[in-house]
Amino acid sequence: MALPILIVEDNADIAGNIRAYLQMNGREAEIASDGLQALERLSNKIYGLCVLDIGLPLMDGITVCKRLRAQGSALPIIMLTARDSIDDRVIGLEAGADDYLIKPFALRELLARIEALMRRAYGNREQTLKVADLTFDLQQTQVLRSGVPIKLNPTCLTILKELMLQSPSIVSRNRLDHLLWSGEAPTSDSLRANIYLLRQAIDKPFEKKLIHTHPGLGWSIRS
Ligand code: CA
Repeated sequence: MALPILIVEDNADIAGNIRAYLQMNGREAEIASDGLQALERLSNKIYGLCVLDIGLPLMDGITVCKRLRAQGSALPIIMLTARDSIDDRVIGLEAGADDYLIKPFALRELLARIEALMRRAYGNREQTLKVADLTFDLQQTQVLRSGVPIKLNPTCLTILKELMLQSPSIVSRNRLDHLLWSGEAPTSDSLRANIYLLRQAIDKPFEKKLIHTHPGLGWSIRS
């Protein structure tokens, strides 16, 4: 479920090595080989982070970075610079990059920087969801309410995760049907039955009800 990383690098060997190393370490990665292609990819798909070389054909990395920030993008960016020059580093950071690495660098070092930056950018948000006294630790797949562990089947876990991610917004039946069964529920009652189970586990033992039905619209979880 981690978002893919976009590697923007015109040197095919370096780009390929980075991608292979990231994939080996469980990260999905894609390559763009020039600055314009990078901007196009970034506007068509959601990436978790961008590794951005400064020296690129068509549009250099500094300009790509400035454009992204000017568009309001908060995408974590690690700049790659060929020269060990203070200028490049300062210009990169001023353009809005979060971090930089000087070539040549060890892939291990790049991975460490990527992981640190991803933790900083998404860490708390991605790993534990919280609504009132209910927490869902996505790493451990553990749900607690008031500190009491709650056991749920995989379908209920998926529903709960989506409700908590969207909280306090309403999540539609269509959205859940699509998430769970690609729109083809095994029976017309499957969703309702699982929401019933979810309520039994999350709300029944507790005084305050968190799951709310919005007739004709869907469900929400809120305090
Ligand atoms: Ca280059």
